[in-house]
Amino acid sequence: MMIRHDNGRAVWFTSSLFDNVRSYPQLVDNSVDKHGTDHGKTLQKVEIKHGFSTKHGGISHLPYISDLNFGFSVGEDRATTVENYRCFARTLGIGENHMLCANQTHTTRVLTVDEAYRGMGLSVPYETFPDKTLADEGFDGFATRTPDVALVVRAADCVPILFCDPVNRVIGACHAGWRGTVGGIAAETVDAMCAIGAEKQHIRAAIGHAVGLCCYEVDDAFYETFLHTLGKEVCNVIFRKSEEYENPDRWHCDLRTCNRMLLENAGLAPEHIDVSEHCTCCHNELFHSHRYAMKYTGGKRGLMAACISMETIK
Ligand SMILES: [Zn+2]
Repeated sequence: MMIRHDNGRAVWFTSSLFDNVRSYPQLVDNSVDKHGTDHGKTLQKVEIKHGFSTKHGGISHLPYISDLNFGFSVGEDRATTVENYRCFARTLGIGENHMLCANQTHTTRVLTVDEAYRGMGLSVPYETFPDKTLADEGFDGFATRTPDVALVVRAADCVPILFCDPVNRVIGACHAGWRGTVGGIAAETVDAMCAIGAEKQHIRAAIGHAVGLCCYEVDDAFYETFLHTLGKEVCNVIFRKSEEYENPDRWHCDLRTCNRMLLENAGLAPEHIDVSEHCTCCHNELFHSHRYAMKYTGGKRGLMAACISMETIK
């Protein structure tokens, strides 16, 4: 992951996996119009735009959420939060009205979207969509093959993951907290992408900053759940007890590594998976962290965003 700065204010991260695959021309069939006139095929170029936000680069002004928050239920007025999305879109070079947000509820549900979903969760409420479960049950992953549809997931310690198959021009995004991680949301997102034309050998995944092994203490029931579901091979790698920890007899868990392993098991090439090395809790000056907030700010914190879009080049 590469850290980016903009005028010394906005700070975000990008993955070089996506930077190396900028533009993919594709013949788009926009042939027959309503009068029956055949316009043939045109060459459409898109550019992969993406980024993982920090807590800097917006217009928030509540002390515990720094100046950039993407959460709608953290005590900030909605207009300010919405403006933060616009700031982030501008920073990434994404159209301001292209974004749509997952209604995250720690499911393993992945929604395939197109241009009809633009603005969802921002200017367009979930309730207005025909599929009522979007509002009621929520979903934590996205897939699309439509250009100018910017997928947004939010996190503050949970793992945000962005996906792109540059060859078949399919993108995805998911939010993997511990429930989503053990439930397999990352692989579910890959499957949803493949259902609309992606191929596993071409999919690249960027796993963003999240709470690290260092700071993610869990209880025995948590460990048992992972062991029961994912098996010893994965758990031997992602769980650790250590004298270095505040409570040496308690397990610590590495959710980012877990998602990396699960994506490899799902068929992604190891060299196509980029993993952030930053712990959100250790670097709370840069990131929103739920764990840090529970310890030091009475749980008050904002949310960060991760976004990916195939933006058309005019
Ligand atoms: Zn840490």
